[in-house]
Amino acid sequence: MRCVLISSSLDLRDYFGAELARIAPRVEVVDHAGGAADVRLALAWHPPDDAFERYPDLQAVCSIAAGVDNIMACPSLPPSVDVVRVVDPGQGQMMSGFIAWHAIGHQRGFAAFSAQQRDRIWQRGVQRRAQDVPVGILGNGEIGRRVAVDLAHLGFPVMSWSRTAKAISSASRSFHGAAGLTAMLGETEVLVNLLPLTPETRSILNGDLFGRMRRGGYLIQVGRGEHLAEADLLAALDSGQLAGAALDVFATEPLPAAHPFWRHPRIAITPHDASDVSISAVATTLATTADAIRAGRRPPHAIDRARGY
Ligand code: NDP
Repeated sequence: MRCVLISSSLDLRDYFGAELARIAPRVEVVDHAGGAADVRLALAWHPPDDAFERYPDLQAVCSIAAGVDNIMACPSLPPSVDVVRVVDPGQGQMMSGFIAWHAIGHQRGFAAFSAQQRDRIWQRGVQRRAQDVPVGILGNGEIGRRVAVDLAHLGFPVMSWSRTAKAISSASRSFHGAAGLTAMLGETEVLVNLLPLTPETRSILNGDLFGRMRRGGYLIQVGRGEHLAEADLLAALDSGQLAGAALDVFATEPLPAAHPFWRHPRIAITPHDASDVSISAVATTLATTADAIRAGRRPPHAIDRARGY
């Protein structure tokens, strides 16, 4: 089966070519500039607007990540093709470590110690217990569930919010829908965003939402940059409603050098590196998608296109 690689920002053949040949030997990789006939599969990341116009036989487009928002936003994406995401348990584990780093950093005041070290100041702080710092997680999916379990093991009271109601879990208290969000936010000190970017979740991290959290809260933003109303975050930090924020994703990446986030004393920035899928997980996703197409089945991790995730 022929698979085209399409990205406006990455050399996908350079990243994935060797592993695709090893894990998916029956998939013939072709470049976007090459022939379009008989291409039934695509691996795409930030595809250009006209990316899919030339592939009449296309049946599925695979992302190289858990999120598919940049593929869903492509105007030439045919309505009938499956859009497939990567589900990689190793990614949940990495994300969990990242969230724990920042949640504990807020709980224990580690940023203050870093600042003190620069000035050679020995000043002990007041140490709070994890049990006293409730964490609310937006998103109770593949990654959010793993984060909830690990934070609960560290002693944090964990709450999770999703679109649909969930069965009772020992790791976190579940909330759903608009009323559930209000209830959860009222108890939340550390807010973790692990939502997919869809029309419903765009700009969800805004002044109104911050205002419903406990005063002096902390935001850990690892979803997508477009979830955040940037000016509202700066206002919430200025007013003291939020004590700080860890930001891994941005509406414009790389974050422009002149952006006020870079120099804000209470914002921690990482370059969209909170976690990563493994190259072999991407190759395996492509191989299982090709197998499903050959068998006339839906690919295992095809998203619900009406929902957007
Ligand atoms: P899943 O699709 O497994 O889970 C998504 C969760 O979000 C589900 O619980 C879903 O609810 C919930 N959700 C979606 N829409 C809404 C809504 N309108 N209201 C309430 N809840 C909603 O995704 P993953 O856990 O695999 O990944 C989540 C996101 O994390 C990715 O889409 C990506 O944006 C981000 N990410 C960022 C990374 C980084 O390095 N910064 C790395 C990996 C992922 P329900 O269960 O009811 O369907």
